[in-house]
Amino acid sequence: MTEKNFMNAPENIAKIPSTAHAASPLAEQAAATFGQLGLSLGDRLGADLPVFSPIDGSGLATLRMDTPGDVDAMVANARTAFAAWKLVPAPHRGELVRRYGALVREHKEALSLLLSIENGKILTEARGEVQEVIDICEYAVGLSRQLFGLTIASERPEHRLTEYWHPMGVLGLISAFNFPAAVWAWGTTVALVCGDSAIWKPSEKTPLTALAFAGLLEKAAADYDLAPDHLVQVVVGDARCGTAIADHPDVAIVSATGSVRMGQDVAVRLARRFARPVLELGGNNAAIIAPSADLDLALRGAVFAATGTCGQRCTTLRRLIVHNSIRDAFVQRLIATFATLRIGSPLDDATHVGPLIDRMAFDGMQRALEQARAEGGIVHGGERLDIAGAADGYYVRPAIAEMPGQTAIVREETFAPILYVMGYDTLDEAIALQNGVSQGLSSSIFTSDVREAERFQSAEGSDCGIVNVNIGTSGAEIGGAFGGEKVTGGGRVSGSDSWKNYMRRATATVNYSASLPLAQGVKFDLDIDP
Ligand code: NAD
Repeated sequence: MTEKNFMNAPENIAKIPSTAHAASPLAEQAAATFGQLGLSLGDRLGADLPVFSPIDGSGLATLRMDTPGDVDAMVANARTAFAAWKLVPAPHRGELVRRYGALVREHKEALSLLLSIENGKILTEARGEVQEVIDICEYAVGLSRQLFGLTIASERPEHRLTEYWHPMGVLGLISAFNFPAAVWAWGTTVALVCGDSAIWKPSEKTPLTALAFAGLLEKAAADYDLAPDHLVQVVVGDARCGTAIADHPDVAIVSATGSVRMGQDVAVRLARRFARPVLELGGNNAAIIAPSADLDLALRGAVFAATGTCGQRCTTLRRLIVHNSIRDAFVQRLIATFATLRIGSPLDDATHVGPLIDRMAFDGMQRALEQARAEGGIVHGGERLDIAGAADGYYVRPAIAEMPGQTAIVREETFAPILYVMGYDTLDEAIALQNGVSQGLSSSIFTSDVREAERFQSAEGSDCGIVNVNIGTSGAEIGGAFGGEKVTGGGRVSGSDSWKNYMRRATATVNYSASLPLAQGVKFDLDIDP
């Protein structure tokens, strides 16, 4: 555990304007949003956790932090909720999620605004994230009638062999700041229809968004007779609460989204007690630009993937591998296009790129650019921009770094908009570069050559969980399983058949014959008196 995990670490406190507790315009907007949602922060307000807007660094609220002891009490409540909820038929569990989705849809605009104020992503991306929550609700409702198991051919006469899926228990969900609502919804709505109860520890950088989204779910549950109390709870706390969740013997599943460093700690704790892990960790995503690519399309795809959410998506494009025959011309177009990006308040509809989350992210970006230069890179952009009225916001021009090869810094995930560019001559070389990092989340190739496209997706191609052709690395749809391999953790929070992560499987054999044949022809004849 490092200081990075604590929002009230000294370097952040130093940044709080002395008037942090006076209501800034953004704080007023955030408070008004809670009013529109019919929610109150009530006893969540306190003195431990100051929450800031990255837009201008102003304070939004100060919250009371939960402690590991509070986590214990919440887990006990969640266990009780689980005992009742698992008995509710799955389609009726889906009804709760359907009602919740309707509430989120009704309040989409207010929720998007709050998300943008607290996280700093531009409004259109914030709306996209809220839409993702609505979409996953619909997905989960459909799923509530589709939680089926297999019937398998038995080798024994008059026997039936079947797999059932049962609710698993309490889900502990730990999430990152960059998708402060969607990742929770991916896991929680699916877990709810699967019959689990859930505890959410959001990032300490985005607790207000969490309280708003979970507050609406609590409202929907309060109005639904079949939903027990404490079905969904929020822990407002730092990494210590995350550790308490990871270590708690009554938390059956832990879905943790965040840095590799966090995942390495959580994974060991879960392994020690054989809890089920769903790990969604860092990525270092690459796109290959082949000579046959539609270069206009590739340019658009690369720029959005590299700079969307100010380079703070797990699927952000961080490495561009361009065929040497087109490399110089493509880089010139990239530099020219980066120069046209409008950087500023995320609440302005014209803005392409909002702020970094905080000073720590800015410092990390500058350190990475320094290292890139030291490793022979030529850096374009990356400087801090002075935005009127936002002295404590960290706005940057996204950077392009032309690299002599895949150096040490290129192999690291720096959570900021830096696009490293490298050249290649053969597709084998490009795929080796793409796979030559420890992370394995998202990848793409821009090509019009079907052989290249297919090879990239084949077993000898990309080793990532997400493999795209002619689109960028970011912007996944909810239907497909989402996640990555290697140090990205191997988890799949949602999509496809990942609902199985939230259930336990029982294999049942029923003998409806009058004899007792043993499997594999084993003989065990007994002399039993009739
Ligand atoms: P982070 O690891 O600092 O924090 C993530 C969450 O983990 C927070 O809630 C934090 O309080 C908690 N935490 C931190 N240390 C912990 C510990 N030792 N035990 C338990 N909990 C702990 O990450 P961040 O800065 O919020 O987010 C950025 C990172 O998240 C990037 O690496 C990004 O790639 C990754 N991410 C991955 C995905 C994915 O789906 N693969 C999605 C979003 C973000």
